[in-house]
Amino acid sequence: MISASCSHFSSLTLYYGDDDFIAEPEFQWPVHGAVVSQKFRAQKGRHPRRHQGIDLAAQRNTPIYSIDHGRVIYAGHGFTGYGRLVIVEHINGGYQSLYAHLNRYKVQRGDVVKKGELLGLMGDSGRATGVHLHFEVHKNDVVLNPLDVLPQATVVKQTAAP
Ligand SMILES: [Zn+2]
Repeated sequence: MISASCSHFSSLTLYYGDDDFIAEPEFQWPVHGAVVSQKFRAQKGRHPRRHQGIDLAAQRNTPIYSIDHGRVIYAGHGFTGYGRLVIVEHINGGYQSLYAHLNRYKVQRGDVVKKGELLGLMGDSGRATGVHLHFEVHKNDVVLNPLDVLPQATVVKQTAAP
């Protein structure tokens, strides 16, 4: 049973540029063969526990891939709790994807990346209870449930709901 997870109570505010809408992208999964160890949890009412992404658990140093082509707008550890973090801004549709708790970076800020390009290696940096990727998808000012935008995957299993 994999129990790696994290909880982010801080909300990460990102700047979004022009949202010139070009096309809805087709994303790929950021990890191959990982298990969803924690699902997206929207904030409901005054309930304080939210999780604005999904956790994907696998072995340390599992490759993390960009879900679409784009540009690395952040690669650093300046956001509390996120550990080593990479943020990719995607050209199409105003999306940004966020990859947290990395063990190692394989890109740096300003890099142009292709869909499926290696961004880093999975780890447990920051506030993490085990090795996993904390993965978020933002569209303009909205945080989306990544499972709503990623393709249905047969390789990704979901652990039992809490
Ligand atoms: Zn998480």
